[in-house]
Amino acid sequence: MSDTTVCAGCQRDGENTRARSWCSDCGELVCNACAKFHEKLSPPHTIVPIERVQNLSSTLLELSRKCEYHPGQMIVFFCSQHDCVLCDACMTESHESCKPITSIEKAAKGVKNGVAVFDLESRMENLCQVVKKTFGNQKRYKKQFRKSRNKIRTQISEIKTRVIEQINKIEETLIKDLDKKFTEHEDTFIEGEHSLQSMLESFSSCLADFKSLKPHATEIHLFKAVKYLDAKTCKQEVEARIIHTCFPKLEFQPDIGFTNLMKSFPSFGTVSVTEEPMQLSAVLDIDQQGKALVKPKGSQRKLSLFTSFKTT
Ligand SMILES: [Zn+2]
Ligand SMILES: [Zn+2]
Ligand SMILES: [Zn+2]
Ligand SMILES: [Zn+2]
Repeated sequence: MSDTTVCAGCQRDGENTRARSWCSDCGELVCNACAKFHEKLSPPHTIVPIERVQNLSSTLLELSRKCEYHPGQMIVFFCSQHDCVLCDACMTESHESCKPITSIEKAAKGVKNGVAVFDLESRMENLCQVVKKTFGNQKRYKKQFRKSRNKIRTQISEIKTRVIEQINKIEETLIKDLDKKFTEHEDTFIEGEHSLQSMLESFSSCLADFKSLKPHATEIHLFKAVKYLDAKTCKQEVEARIIHTCFPKLEFQPDIGFTNLMKSFPSFGTVSVTEEPMQLSAVLDIDQQGKALVKPKGSQRKLSLFTSFKTT
């Protein structure tokens, strides 16, 4: 429609008259005067108040009796072979040998209450229902998709916790072992200290005694003291020679296997997206009847986490 409020007939005559109704046969807006004229034609044209057609799409509204290929020509025939409507020109140009050809009036007769209208309407309704149902399903799948992300996050964090717990246990065992070995061998130092302490005390007192005796003793006395202390020093020298000179030493060798284990598991798992067919997806009636082509299955992406190792 070029102008939604102006009478098409009057506009062709150069007049802008306000349209009040719609001629269903001509497929155009008409003013009150033109409407009366269209109604007096033989057969009379059907005039519809403008309010009833205002919300219709222009594509539907402009389907009129005029031939869309031949300007100025009216539709007069219906070709059953090609399932299309024809004007005189269409007929002579490309449908002359088609069968059967009926008059448009005959073909259209009873269409309003016919099977074709009923079928088309129910198919269109079904189509809307299918899309509506699929739309609802898709919303549910979207919700699930989000939910699965949160679930995987929890899974990842649980794995981390298990790994940390395991590592804590390993650490605890190792520290216990270290402390045990330390305590066991610490005694070696304590015992060594004790014997060295007593040796030092005894040796020092001998030396001190000898040093204080030396300036005052008679030669005979000193001679006897030398003999006595010489024998004693001999014994002490033997004792000193066998002083424990080996000490425990703590060492740590990190397990290469464990270090490699960490290297060979660079991740807890892999997040992947797979396609999941929509369950209970809405099916067109026409497909249920097995009439139509195979329809592509609606499918949804699904998030999942494949754990690549297990901790106990
Ligand atoms: Zn008309
Ligand atoms: Zn008019
Ligand atoms: Zn035509
Ligand atoms: Zn034909």
